Amino acid sequence: MPNRRQVLTLGAAIVAFDALGVGWVTQAQADTGAKGLPVPRLDGELVTDVAALAEAADDYGQIAHRRPRAVLRPGSVSDVVKVVRFAAEHGIPVAARGQGHSTFGQAQAPGGVVIDSRTLATVHRVSARGVVVDAGATWVEVTKAALAARLTPPVATDYLGLSVGGTLSVGGIGGATSRHGLVVDTVRELEVVTGDGRLVRCSPTVERELFDAVLGGLGQYGVIVRATLDLVSASTTARIYHLTYPDLRSMTAAQRIALADGRFDYLEGQVVWSGTGWSYLLEGGVYHSASAPDDRAVVRGLPAAAKTEITAMPYFDWLNRVYAVVEQLRPLKFPNPWLNLFLPDRATDSYIEKLLATLTPADTGGGPILLYPFTRRRLTRPMVSVPDSPVVFILSILRMVAPPDEAVVRKLLVDNRSAYDKAVAVGGTQYPIGSIPSRPGDWQRHYGSAYGRVRRLKNRFDPRGILAPEQGIF
Ligand SMILES: Cc1cc2nc3c(=O)[nH]c(=O)nc-3n(C[C@H](O)[C@H](O)[C@H](O)COP(=O)(O)OP(=O)(O)OC[C@H]3O[C@@H](n4cnc5c(N)ncnc54)[C@H](O)[C@@H]3O)c2cc1C
Repeated sequence: MPNRRQVLTLGAAIVAFDALGVGWVTQAQADTGAKGLPVPRLDGELVTDVAALAEAADDYGQIAHRRPRAVLRPGSVSDVVKVVRFAAEHGIPVAARGQGHSTFGQAQAPGGVVIDSRTLATVHRVSARGVVVDAGATWVEVTKAALAARLTPPVATDYLGLSVGGTLSVGGIGGATSRHGLVVDTVRELEVVTGDGRLVRCSPTVERELFDAVLGGLGQYGVIVRATLDLVSASTTARIYHLTYPDLRSMTAAQRIALADGRFDYLEGQVVWSGTGWSYLLEGGVYHSASAPDDRAVVRGLPAAAKTEITAMPYFDWLNRVYAVVEQLRPLKFPNPWLNLFLPDRATDSYIEKLLATLTPADTGGGPILLYPFTRRRLTRPMVSVPDSPVVFILSILRMVAPPDEAVVRKLLVDNRSAYDKAVAVGGTQYPIGSIPSRPGDWQRHYGSAYGRVRRLKNRFDPRGILAPEQGIF
């Protein structure tokens, strides 16, 4: 005899889709006579319970909340194929959701199906030839598995709680981008369920068009279900150099020197409120296993800093340094109207100086402001749109509104839009993980001369236009 919970679960299982009436038909509704097109049998489950829909209408930003009508918890890749194919046949919107770390509803699918990729999260194989991993795994799992074989992904995002699939859909940036490019530049092969429900293996040599489309493709062309990623040999220790500068231009000058000579394995920077004004922190890391580097040699030739602090910690602890903080913040559900921009080198200093002249600590809510450069030629994936400049800076204002206040969020969204327009005017683009209210023409500008190709790829791989609708590109 099934117990009460099992009976409830069986009753809630979706068995059909009624395109003209209630939408998804549960077993319990079917038992009372509701009819519809039969939904394919699944290894996992398609659910419509209130808690699942509310979670899928939620993300780190706490600003956009658009409910799907169902959530797929796939039990197999074949479940993703069946549901995407079914959705394509009936024109139902679908969005894959990694960990929901977007901040403006990018992984939501109003009235459609959200694929909760957390149920497909196995790290399959680790070797010097790379790691084979399901897209729902997080970088914590991938990094731990790789380190067990003394290997590591070449580029880590600052926070390892992101999913592999979500990161590959946006790009994936971190301190090692200065050396190895974005996370998407370290991918060898993908398995993708296209928007018309085909499971396709793709790489730089096989089905290249799809490979290029989905990496940084913002979920538009397919659902990534599995990836093979580069690994490199791992060091045991991170030696971290914090150089504080009183002015922006000294810090960015130091970053440019360090970027050009590659002295750091990790290069980032922050704009920090000192209590009376902004100060500027270069953050560099040297990874090593045997003896520590000569500190004087590491900082030689950089503009003199007002303060230099050097610390050392185990390599994994360094990569995972912000995990505990995010775990504490996320349940508090503070709104996070983030602004993430790519700026051409030539415009960076004056853009940031003008922006900071109007910015107060209240505008960030204590959230960090990141600012660091990378070399454009290390970026190899065509869907990631960055300024046409040999050196590009990322500016991330990770605003937090605590306690939640709708009026403040509205004001900051207006500020984001204005900062974005000014960035575009000097040749900047957005890193599309943040909260910038969109206007018609934004995406044409974002992709520039590649926009025609973007449209062609959409027609080819997602002809019904069902995937990741909330990116608002088409
Ligand atoms: C605390 C925090 C720290 C962060 N740090 C960094 C950082 O250091 N570097 C960085 O680059 N980004 C960072 N981000 C942003 C993050 O990369 C993006 O939010 C990205 O979306 C990945 O997160 P996710 O796995 O939760 O994806 P989601 O937010 O769930 O999804 C993002 C987009 O990808 C699509 N998608 C998700 N999974 C798949 C899939 N399997 N196939 C196809 N499309 C898919 C979704 O539909 C959506 O459009 C951070 C975010 C937070 C909240």
